[in-house]
Amino acid sequence: MAAIELDGIVRRFGDTTAVAEISLTTARNDFLVLLGPSGCGKTTLLRMIAGLLEPTEGRILVDGRDVTALPPRERDLAMVFQNYALYPHLTVERNLGFGLSVRRTGKDELRRRVDEVAELLDLGHLLGRRPKELSGGQRQRVALGRAMVREPQAFLMDEPLSNLDAKLRSGTRTRLISLHRRLDTTFVYVTHDQIDAMTMATKVAVLNQGRIEQFGSPVEIYDEPATAFVAGFMGAPPMNLLPAELGTGPDDDQLVLRAPGLELPLPHRGDPGVREVLLGIRPEHLVPAAAGELRGRVDIVENLGNEEIAECEIGEARLSIRGARPIGLTAGAAAAFTVRPEHVHLFARQSGRRLAWEPDPVPALVS
Ligand code: ATP
Repeated sequence: MAAIELDGIVRRFGDTTAVAEISLTTARNDFLVLLGPSGCGKTTLLRMIAGLLEPTEGRILVDGRDVTALPPRERDLAMVFQNYALYPHLTVERNLGFGLSVRRTGKDELRRRVDEVAELLDLGHLLGRRPKELSGGQRQRVALGRAMVREPQAFLMDEPLSNLDAKLRSGTRTRLISLHRRLDTTFVYVTHDQIDAMTMATKVAVLNQGRIEQFGSPVEIYDEPATAFVAGFMGAPPMNLLPAELGTGPDDDQLVLRAPGLELPLPHRGDPGVREVLLGIRPEHLVPAAAGELRGRVDIVENLGNEEIAECEIGEARLSIRGARPIGLTAGAAAAFTVRPEHVHLFARQSGRRLAWEPDPVPALVS
């Protein structure tokens, strides 16, 4: 296991800045997920940690040792790629042991490690087969096993589940979680799939255009997104973001959010400092209620089996509502919704940054 520290990492390709000043530190045995949309710099960052690409600026430390200038083989990190290239002419057993045999590991030691990994990954019955005789998920496990037999200080994985179908993906996630627990090793895992991040990570770095939007536990990122970008990226469907004006009520200085189809009093007083906001509400936190503060029309109701997701028009915005089936909404009908104050997220519209309430006695918003 290793603690990985990225210190002011920048990577440019000509005029393109793929990674712009990224600094973060993982604890030993963290499962760090680098999460973000296509082109945000995830793979570039992972390749720099692996030593396959040099940073333009910054340092990479593994357990306090500066490895920035070291070639990949001296970093003791194992990389598992999206397109795992197994040796087609070798059996699973020889594929697993290949990296060790070229390192001239003794026969007994090689046998021990291959057997151990085969057992952990449930590959024991497949050791005699060649890659073309395996399913996609089995091949993926061999690729992972090949990295594991080296007993590296950390695993670096680039979208390793992307070639698997939904069922296999979910099963492999469970397997990776228990592997991480058993191996007690650092994992750095690149994905654009927020479910990967929510289910497996101990820490998530959400990347946008080469920068970290937020770094924290999956729960922090889901419950308190630092920016509207993070809010709109996490969750399926993601958080609803509705442009609104923050003002005060007619008789007092109680704050009220207003938008077409919306008048929502907040349990706060004072001068918010910011008027133009994005109101964020998760689909599961919008509750149908006859006297609700958000009023509009139901467009579509989608049946997911155990749940339903409705799309509603509220003023000029489109909101998703998610709830146990039957959700009690009818396509084409008028509907109203309420939301509990603790489920209201506010972001400054211009900067996208989360607004937080100063603790009493100064009831103002800070961004
Ligand atoms: P994806 O999820 O699509 O793989 P990513 O988040 O991993 O995307 P990167 O592959 O790291 O993104 O790319 C980040 C940015 O850097 C992109 O704009 C990409 O076009 C650019 N880039 C990456 N590699 C190179 C290269 N060798 N030369 C020029 N530009 C590059």
